[in-house]
Amino acid sequence: MPDGTPPGAFAPELSEPVPRALCTDCGISRSSQPKRCGSACQFINPDYPALETAVHGRARDVNRPDELHFGPHVKLLRARMTKPREGAQWTGITTRIGERLLETGAVDAVLTVAADPADRWKPMPVLVTKAEDMASARGMRMGYAPVLALIEPALKLGYRRLAVIGIPCQVYALRALEAELQLEKLIVVGTPCSDNTTTEQFHGFLKLLSDQPETITYLEFRADYHVELRFSDGRKKEIPFLMLPISKLPSDFFPLTCRTCVDYTNVLSDITVGYMGGTGEQWLIVRNAQGSALVELLGDELVTSDPQSGGKRAGPVKGFVANTERAAGGLPLRAMPDWLRPLAGWLMPKLGPKGLEFARARVEMKASETVLHLRRAEPKRMKHMIPDHVWKLVQPYGLSPRPGETASLDDEAAGKGVLARRSDGDNKPTP
Ligand SMILES: Cc1cc2nc3c(=O)[nH]c(=O)nc-3n(C[C@H](O)[C@H](O)[C@H](O)COP(=O)(O)OP(=O)(O)OC[C@H]3O[C@@H](n4cnc5c(N)ncnc54)[C@H](O)[C@@H]3O)c2cc1C
Ligand code: SF4
Ligand code: SF4
Repeated sequence: MPDGTPPGAFAPELSEPVPRALCTDCGISRSSQPKRCGSACQFINPDYPALETAVHGRARDVNRPDELHFGPHVKLLRARMTKPREGAQWTGITTRIGERLLETGAVDAVLTVAADPADRWKPMPVLVTKAEDMASARGMRMGYAPVLALIEPALKLGYRRLAVIGIPCQVYALRALEAELQLEKLIVVGTPCSDNTTTEQFHGFLKLLSDQPETITYLEFRADYHVELRFSDGRKKEIPFLMLPISKLPSDFFPLTCRTCVDYTNVLSDITVGYMGGTGEQWLIVRNAQGSALVELLGDELVTSDPQSGGKRAGPVKGFVANTERAAGGLPLRAMPDWLRPLAGWLMPKLGPKGLEFARARVEMKASETVLHLRRAEPKRMKHMIPDHVWKLVQPYGLSPRPGETASLDDEAAGKGVLARRSDGDNKPTP
């Protein structure tokens, strides 16, 4: 166990991963049966409708409001803890759920990540069995954490009632293997995830943001188009997205995995805890009865309200798609002239989409990145990696499957309006 591991949070030595082409090291390749990656990986041959049905009792229904964008759910909420938790990324809803599950004896252990003792930005998988040790997991780390490599050690210790806190690529593999794990109970708390990178690359980004990068203790891409930085001396700094030094980043800063990942909102979790649709607060996507029970478990520690929505996403998403198509390395902000950036950065929070409309915009941007980056870098994978709903998300922006790019439509029909004949939900094609 590494020095500095919080007491009660068990961080076992893990095997080395098996190298694979598109992989975010979720932990399965470090398990005793690394070949399970073939059926478990979201980058190989994912089947979202089947897993959504297994987990939620039904697949996403694009005729229900917002399911095309956010996946199956029973409720969307804006939320915050009445007492925000010290060190949390937002107000600490995620780790508080973990604490409550341990306090009430609902699970034997929570599998999540804490900060590596040697590097606060590096995620380290930990198995937590005492509620008070959940505090060590608070906050966001940048990088890949093989959380699922903890499942076998947990089972060896006799823990069969587990909660897992994970990002979408981890949760996909977990759900794909859930039936064969034969757990007594599995509760999945997910966070959305986008634009992850290796911890090493992320340190390079911090160096561009400050001449004392080691003093940055917090970073978040907020829904008001600003990055918030906090420093060890208590200072805070807000940088408009458009003023970020994105063009100085290496072209492989965002790995292909994270530029082509199809599940921004973690559709296979019981509850997704994010911020995108929260208009300055947190945002909960409650997906099933187990997710509703988790909200109840927090009782009056949690303040909730209906999410807000404002502005129109079509223009910004269209601009994003055009930039992504143009940009050689997939870094879309490069085209903005320097003199225009402060003005555009000031205008965006005022005119841009807000709340749920902001979240829909981000989901559509991510879907279009998936199509454009795979088309450029790994066209053969498109057929297996891109679920049908992604094509529906990007259709209003002139992106449709070309022959050979989709498995469910035959090549003859692809690109000839088949998607338009299907149910459109709230994603009407632009005239
Ligand atoms: C790389 C990354 C990108 C994200 N992007 C978005 C986004 O675009 N939109 C959005 O709405 N939300 C995003 N989130 C989620 C968001 O940052 C918050 O984590 C979430 O809103 C929960 O806040 P909280 O205060 O409840 O979390 P806390 O109570 O502070 O708990 C945070 C939890 O996240 C886990 N965690 C932290 N880092 C990692 C990691 N690298 N891998 C796996 N688990 C981790 C911790 O173990 C902990 O359990 C992202 C998270 C990550 C890790
Ligand atoms: S299942 Fe996990 S470990 Fe295996 S290839 Fe996919 S991301 Fe990598
Ligand atoms: S963006 Fe997708 S692939 Fe990358 S770490 Fe997040 S969930 Fe995994």
